[in-house]
Amino acid sequence: MIGLISATAAGAAARDRLAAAWPDRTRVYDAGAGEAVRAAFAECEQLVCFLATGAVVRLLAPLLGDKATDPGVVCVDEGGRFAVSLLGGHGGGANELAREVGGLLGAEPVVTTATDAVGLPGLDTLGFPFEGAVAAVSRALLDGEPVSLEAEVAWPLPALPSSPRGAHTVRLTDRAVAPGEREVLLRPPSLVVGVGASRGAPADEVLGLVEEALREAGLSPRSVAELATVDAKSDEPGIVAAAARLGVPLVTYPAGELADVPVPNPSGAPLAAVGTPSVAEAAALARGGELLLPKRKSVRADGRPAMATCAVARRPARGRLAVVGLGPGARDLLTPRATAELRRASVLVGLDQYVDQIRDLLRPGTRVLESGLGAEEERARTAVAEARRGHAVALIGSGDAGVYAMASPALAEASDDIDVVGVPGVTAALAAGAILGAPLGHDHVSISLSDLHTPWEVIERRVRAAAEADIVVTFYNPRSRGRDWQLPQALAILAGHRDPATPVGVVRNASRPDESSRLTTLGELDPATVDMMTVVTVGNTATRNIAGRMVTPRGYRWQESTRTGPPEGAR
Ligand code: SAH
Repeated sequence: MIGLISATAAGAAARDRLAAAWPDRTRVYDAGAGEAVRAAFAECEQLVCFLATGAVVRLLAPLLGDKATDPGVVCVDEGGRFAVSLLGGHGGGANELAREVGGLLGAEPVVTTATDAVGLPGLDTLGFPFEGAVAAVSRALLDGEPVSLEAEVAWPLPALPSSPRGAHTVRLTDRAVAPGEREVLLRPPSLVVGVGASRGAPADEVLGLVEEALREAGLSPRSVAELATVDAKSDEPGIVAAAARLGVPLVTYPAGELADVPVPNPSGAPLAAVGTPSVAEAAALARGGELLLPKRKSVRADGRPAMATCAVARRPARGRLAVVGLGPGARDLLTPRATAELRRASVLVGLDQYVDQIRDLLRPGTRVLESGLGAEEERARTAVAEARRGHAVALIGSGDAGVYAMASPALAEASDDIDVVGVPGVTAALAAGAILGAPLGHDHVSISLSDLHTPWEVIERRVRAAAEADIVVTFYNPRSRGRDWQLPQALAILAGHRDPATPVGVVRNASRPDESSRLTTLGELDPATVDMMTVVTVGNTATRNIAGRMVTPRGYRWQESTRTGPPEGAR
């Protein structure tokens, strides 16, 4: 919940805009500023104060507790010009909130937390537990001093600027080592602890066994991602409590699935009890990986038989492939999600001209693998191979990356050993549609006229089907120097079913600096004015030129005057 506090009429007006925009996220505190700040500080995760920063600093001072628990506080000035992240920039989310509030109110977000200001990921924002010399290493990163990144475990991290022999190090490790004097340890969630227990095994026995096993194997408890066991033990209180105390989820698998996992130490007892020759080892390895510690049993002080078993595996690195559409060109048609994914990646793969479009957004240290036109398959293979190595990869394409672009060759190449995230982009047909008016108001298709990968007969058959079905058509890849007869032929097929006066929109470089567009007709379009930077949208038999805009009516009602009217019951 975000507490909103204001003292003046101008502040109250801005406050009300925020409250109206986020009714479920905000609560207005009406009392005097002092009382309101105290109440909101106690009750909310975040505060937005429409007050002078000085006043807010004085009010907050006696309330400050701990960076990890204090709310994030954003101040908006009287003129509504700035949204200042005042307190809890990272932990309290105030930096992000300042950006959001700024976006909503048209105010400039002001963020001073060092790593955010220069575009580096704060070490404390990578989402992993960390320990060691965070302040010193962050400072070294900011000062541009060499910092070496030593990844003992491949994991999809955002880019960190790193050099091979720095005085400071960031070490990604799940081993129980102590950080050096100028070192930060990042703990990836790489370990899976498989556990088994007989009915009624005490939580202390399970937990003690897990802790002892990790200690003996030299592994950090902070890298434990989950406890795993067989379905039949999903409610076993000792196991459930051990997972809760470790602060990790408990994952369970059917006995049949565990029985198929090859393990070094199968035994008869669990087979008889739950139907698999291994619980601890098989559950630790159920999703693949490497067994670091084979099964061991608990030791009971009273000499009675052990009630718990455990084994530890390192799960395989799961890289991350984001397939990101950059939109048609203009920066403000690049979605915030696309920006976030570009900054989330440590490897960027794409066509050089698209890389140029977003290079300024990449974090320092991002490895850029760019290539020229063509080489599509190779780009796709490269992106997938980098993700398989455990990296966070962004594969970019213009418009939407799934439309005549990189997503399909990449996903054809990928198997289920990597995570894939798609970020939609504004495709050329939509960008052009918005410029032309409303040409896509009813059913529409996109057809690529490139016969490089598709035989012309197939393209022609689809154009004919669209012509017969009276569907609005947008042609991508309409014409290039070597391919100039396809567009006239496709238009001739449409002209066989549509009036020569049918509106046709031609948009070149939509949303780019040299954007141009024309509204013409099927009878008058000169194909020579069309090139590869262009899309051509041909209306259906109901599409009209209204005040210079291309408009395809939404349905039957518009057409009542020219047609027999809507079918019975249609609206
Ligand atoms: N993935 C892209 C399409 C790639 S195919 C998208 O979703 O938009 C390349 C074709 O897209 C070009 O030949 C052209 O027809 C069209 N195109 C891409 N960007 C364009 C733009 N900004 N303006 C007009 N046409 C564009």
